[in-house]
Amino acid sequence: MSLPAFLDLEAIRADFPILQREVHGKPLVYLDSAASAQKPRAVIEAMSHAMEYSYANVHRGLHTLANETTDAYEAARRKVAGFIGAGENEIVFTKGATEAINLVASSFGASLGEGDEIVLTEMEHHANIVPWHFLRERKGVVLKFVPITDEGVLDLEAFQRLLGPKTRMVAVGHMSNVTGTINPVTEITRMAHEVGALVLIDGCQGVVHMPVDVKAIDADFYVFSSHKLYGPTGIGVLYGKAERLAALPPYQGGGEMIGAVTLESISYADPPHRFEAGTPAILEAIGLGAAIDWLSGLDRLAIARHEAALYARVREGLAGANWLRVLGEAPDKGAIFSFTVDGAHAHDVAQILDRYGVAVRAGTHCAEPLMRRFGVTSSARASFALYNTEAEADAFVDALTKTQAFFA
Ligand code: PMP
Repeated sequence: MSLPAFLDLEAIRADFPILQREVHGKPLVYLDSAASAQKPRAVIEAMSHAMEYSYANVHRGLHTLANETTDAYEAARRKVAGFIGAGENEIVFTKGATEAINLVASSFGASLGEGDEIVLTEMEHHANIVPWHFLRERKGVVLKFVPITDEGVLDLEAFQRLLGPKTRMVAVGHMSNVTGTINPVTEITRMAHEVGALVLIDGCQGVVHMPVDVKAIDADFYVFSSHKLYGPTGIGVLYGKAERLAALPPYQGGGEMIGAVTLESISYADPPHRFEAGTPAILEAIGLGAAIDWLSGLDRLAIARHEAALYARVREGLAGANWLRVLGEAPDKGAIFSFTVDGAHAHDVAQILDRYGVAVRAGTHCAEPLMRRFGVTSSARASFALYNTEAEADAFVDALTKTQAFFA
């Protein structure tokens, strides 16, 4: 039985040149988009066009190419702002989500001291754990972790109990990169604000798979990376409420982020430029802007339905598999399928799947505490994106079934 058509997949796939290629003589089935998504022609062309036609360093330029490039760079900022419902001056370009979280941990962390508490969850990516551990090591800040249920759902009652007068920050993922669990970030934000804590949402996976309105969520910070959102690597986004960014000291020092510099003193530029020291990722910003334009031309809810249908098809195709363990079965989850195969190491599973042309990721997915919570050392992960097809979901089920036979 075929799935209802939510999207014009033929047209979408035609936008991604890489999807035409073969691997080991088989058509590529790319199920690793949670690690990094492929790029549509619009992104590739926007970046080449800039390099071929109008490129120079940005800001304070007095010649045409510098002005045009500055306009393109700042237009990308406006596109990002519009995409998540933020103000233009609330968007800081960073190297990626990792740098965005490090920026907040470092700059906001400067005001923290011994005994201040930060609440994280057991399902966080290392990018949303390690920068906070730095504050534990350097400042004596206490880290607390919200537990999850066996299904991979956050225990909100436990979260409520962890909150208190010493909680300064709650940092939580919008959607898990391992289980696909979608966390109730608006409710989490409300609960954290009730005790006066700030909230940072790691939107790396969330922003890709659902429309995001940062004002509706009301979080103080929301971060994501371009390369998972069909844009280029090397650029990410820190959204911060204007008043929050204004209260933060700079993260790195250098050109572009100052007001005035003398031999005795410095003053800083206003946000967002205060946090963009040095020459920024200009071409990458232009590429990210193109990715957002491209994605905005599609029906985001239709994408979510399409991805959910692919996931359901895989679950159905593997329903009788008694050799399979799925990590995370939250009722509200995105199309990320993490699993273990009895008697097989996840790396071996991924390598054999690759022989069938199927690209999945295997390892700890930068989420070692979550792996430990599930009692495994690693898992394989198939992650679905808007360009994946029903035939690819079936090819994955078929290849996985054949792969398992090696270990039976
Ligand atoms: N958070 C989550 C949930 C992620 O999936 C990732 C990327 N795997 C990151 C943070 C880190 O993103 P980046 O490596 O692009 O900085």
